[in-house]
Amino acid sequence: MTLKLYDTYARETREFVPIKAGEAGLYCCGPTVYNYAHIGNLRTYIFEDVLRRVLELNQYKVHHVVNITDVGHLVSDADDGEDKMAAGAARMGKTAWEIAEIYTEAFMEDLQLLNIKTPTTLCKATDHIAEQIEAIKQIDAKGMCYTTSDGIYFDTSQDPDYGYLARLDIEGLQQGARVDKGEKRNVTDFALWKFSPADEQRQMEWESPWGKGFPGWHIECSAMAAKYLGPLFDIHCGGKDHIPIHHSNEIAQARACYGTNLSNYWMHGYFLQTDKNKMSKSSGEFLRTATLIEKGHDPIAYRFLCLLAHYRSDIAFSWEGLESANTALTRMRDSYYAWPDGGNIAVQYEDKFRQYINDDLNTSRVIALIWELIKDNDVPDADKKATVNLFDEVLGLELSAWAPAVAAEIPEEIMTMAKARQEARAAKDWAAADAARDGLAAQGYEVVDTADGFDVKKI
Ligand code: AMP
Ligand code: ZN
Repeated sequence: MTLKLYDTYARETREFVPIKAGEAGLYCCGPTVYNYAHIGNLRTYIFEDVLRRVLELNQYKVHHVVNITDVGHLVSDADDGEDKMAAGAARMGKTAWEIAEIYTEAFMEDLQLLNIKTPTTLCKATDHIAEQIEAIKQIDAKGMCYTTSDGIYFDTSQDPDYGYLARLDIEGLQQGARVDKGEKRNVTDFALWKFSPADEQRQMEWESPWGKGFPGWHIECSAMAAKYLGPLFDIHCGGKDHIPIHHSNEIAQARACYGTNLSNYWMHGYFLQTDKNKMSKSSGEFLRTATLIEKGHDPIAYRFLCLLAHYRSDIAFSWEGLESANTALTRMRDSYYAWPDGGNIAVQYEDKFRQYINDDLNTSRVIALIWELIKDNDVPDADKKATVNLFDEVLGLELSAWAPAVAAEIPEEIMTMAKARQEARAAKDWAAADAARDGLAAQGYEVVDTADGFDVKKI
């Protein structure tokens, strides 16, 4: 069965044909590590994880490269404003290097919590300054960049196809350019290298043929992608916000350096929309995986919520939506848990599954197919389990790892102590209630008050 993927560059769904038989090179733009990832960012990584799993389902060996942007990303994607890393470091009272480490670690934890497979290569921009300088040298050798007082800029007017990915109306942009171009020749020109200010020592700066400074944000991705996957590879991904600037610029750089469009397929995940402030990493207040956990939600319910929509449609986030995703996931887990092992995959369901998932990753149809299978009395339960196990290789819900919280696992005497605490509280005998709670804690248990009584949990 052929795999079809929507390619933003062609604006159509195309059959996936790899460059090298049996292999797939996949580059995904990674986090700028000046703060935690918000759940919107994580939706994009969930989409990319599903894509990787679908490629694996189709027997491709996937080279999955994700970059860590730890330098060069300015507050405005158009190369103005403060450096995101420097601003994050100042906010935290730490160095840019320290915060890069803290937030990279936090990002890796988020991936674990959401069952996102670890990339096969994780590469930091600051570890690849030489490769970026080399790429800029090649652009320079072709005369496709120029120097201003603050850096080296790519001259987009020299690429006749510049902005094709986004179908940018270059003429319109130029004419409507009331925005201050500064010393830039064209509104769409972008920085390849930024000079360190003469009177200031930056935390992150390097020597280069053009003077001390740091690389622009776009060059890191095309240089590292080419290093790890070659100058033309299979699939390049990111969120849809990257279409008009970041990915348009990566393509322009690759055309100048290697004479390629860098990637054969360009795929973009749509947004998780919420209250604006809650989804802006620079605002400081936003929703993270940790926020979901603090509010008592299972991060996998968030993954499930994302899979209920097609990756090419926006999701309006709400707590009610997450609750109902959680309810559905619990129902699915309960059904699955009750099924015995040892069955065979139900072929008619496998066919439909492959058809849906290979049709540009239609996860919501696969989930609907699971509900259909659950209700199907003609399929033995053991076969249902074997079939859903196959689906879950792509969905990544890890149904097989889940088990219901079993009250019976709590020993009798612990339940007696918890009841005693409840009675002491009812009698307002706080000293006895506290003593019971301490006694439970000493034995490794915790009592949580609920609407209809209490729950006992292992600490
Ligand atoms: P950043 O760390 O800001 O560079 O973004 C990391 C990834 O998240 C990029 O691929 C962005 O396109 C993507 N992204 C940013 N905001 C959202 C959002 N609200 N929903 C989905 N993806 C997003
Ligand atoms: Zn990128």
